[in-house]
Amino acid sequence: MKRADVIIVGGGVAGIATAVRLAERGVRVQLMESRKKLGGRATSFADARSGLRLDNCQHVALGCCANYLDLCDRLGVGDSFAWYDEQHWIEEGGRVSTLRPGVLPAPGHFTGSFLAASFLTMKQKVQIARASLAMMGEDREAWAERTFGEFLEQQGQDEQTIGRYWSPVVVSACNLDVNQVSASAAMQVFQEGFFANRGAARIGVPRVPLVELYEGVAGLVEKAGGVVLLGESVQEVGRDFVKSIGAGRVEAEDYEVGDKGGAVVLAVPFERVSGLISEEARASDGRFEAIGRLEHSSILGVHLIFDEPVMELPHAVLVERGVQWVFCKDEGGRHVHAVISAADAWMGLGEGEIVKRVLGDFIACFPAARDAGVLQCRVVKERRATFAPTPGHERFRPEARGTSGIVLAGDYTRTGWPATMEGAVRSGYKAAAAVLGEADESLYAEPVKVGVVAQMLGL
Ligand SMILES: Cc1cc2nc3c(=O)[nH]c(=O)nc-3n(C[C@H](O)[C@H](O)[C@H](O)COP(=O)(O)OP(=O)(O)OC[C@H]3O[C@@H](n4cnc5c(N)ncnc54)[C@H](O)[C@@H]3O)c2cc1C
Repeated sequence: MKRADVIIVGGGVAGIATAVRLAERGVRVQLMESRKKLGGRATSFADARSGLRLDNCQHVALGCCANYLDLCDRLGVGDSFAWYDEQHWIEEGGRVSTLRPGVLPAPGHFTGSFLAASFLTMKQKVQIARASLAMMGEDREAWAERTFGEFLEQQGQDEQTIGRYWSPVVVSACNLDVNQVSASAAMQVFQEGFFANRGAARIGVPRVPLVELYEGVAGLVEKAGGVVLLGESVQEVGRDFVKSIGAGRVEAEDYEVGDKGGAVVLAVPFERVSGLISEEARASDGRFEAIGRLEHSSILGVHLIFDEPVMELPHAVLVERGVQWVFCKDEGGRHVHAVISAADAWMGLGEGEIVKRVLGDFIACFPAARDAGVLQCRVVKERRATFAPTPGHERFRPEARGTSGIVLAGDYTRTGWPATMEGAVRSGYKAAAAVLGEADESLYAEPVKVGVVAQMLGL
């Protein structure tokens, strides 16, 4: 039997965030991850076909992801992102509209380029402006049980406006169709990501494979006397112990505030929780039954490597196509990564059909790529990419603390954010605060500032 101050099960972004904050306080943590690498859903793999280290799927951060960026700084990789102020929207035929902040203060900072954009008619722009203004003063919690589609209908948005504007933004951010996603989750994207301040919607794209962002974790943990165990699959978790094949039974004593005695933090995806917790924990804690009522939504990532340059822009939204975003992954413009969120309808398709459809969408918007050949492709299906933020789903998201004593972390816990790396970091910071006996949000980074005009308009 071994002992650790704090045992963390799961080395995704949530488990990493917990470990880093605890190690900084001198807590000796044992971070146990079943795979041979850190990062969970936000990591990379060696692709045998191309010989490249590819990410599971493109992950981007936004300027409003204060806690995720805080963690990156703590890991010494805060400068590993390329930042973009612009979003490029491309229509069939290749016409590009670029939305970028202009001279006006938030929330009007996109007004100039929005008015100049060609992918929307003036009538559609007026509709969008009206709904945006309405959203600004909206109490989004009051919309938690309704869909964003209901809000758009109430605001008189026509089908094409939804298809060309609202849908790509909401589906990419929330991973669910506008008619399925809770209005509160979708409103948060606009309120915090678009309207709050001029920098909130900046797009941060990692310049290195995701797995490289976690290279500093083991050093930080070890400095405090802890250890990161990879390839260590935990089989049972109780309030003061975990069991795994490799490490056997590891004990953590009851944690008492002010005394680094021990605690167990479970930071696995929500579908794994039920199979890991001890019978005793399950019987004593209502959080576990509720978690079982969360549902999944999938994401599809497709890498295409062409034999000639096909993409000059760093990234682009494809207007009214099945593929929502494309990213250029190399300097030469030959490696394109296409992302399809809310991709349940694609999951049954074979690689050939997926590549055909993705190529069709790409060539429709980048016609110059018509004659280029595809040298390599790689399709990554993530069926359980995120929880589905449907109306009412917030009721099933658990707090970090519960009666069983097991501390929960993970993007699915009650963070106030959708399933994102920011949500995962928030959950980790909350879990660390729970272990330390501090207030839930005491370790959070400084919240994103809301501009004066945005405040006057109700934000
Ligand atoms: C395709 C895709 C695209 C995405 N795009 C973005 C994006 O652009 N921006 C963004 O912010 N977010 C994005 N996300 C969401 C983001 O990846 C997740 O919200 C976040 O990584 C979740 O972190 P987590 O630590 O909560 O869970 P996970 O990453 O799932 O980590 C849980 C860890 O627990 C481990 N584990 C499970 N069982 C055991 C066990 N028995 N013993 C030990 N370890 C175990 C797992 O191996 C895993 O490493 C995307 C997700 C996907 C799938």
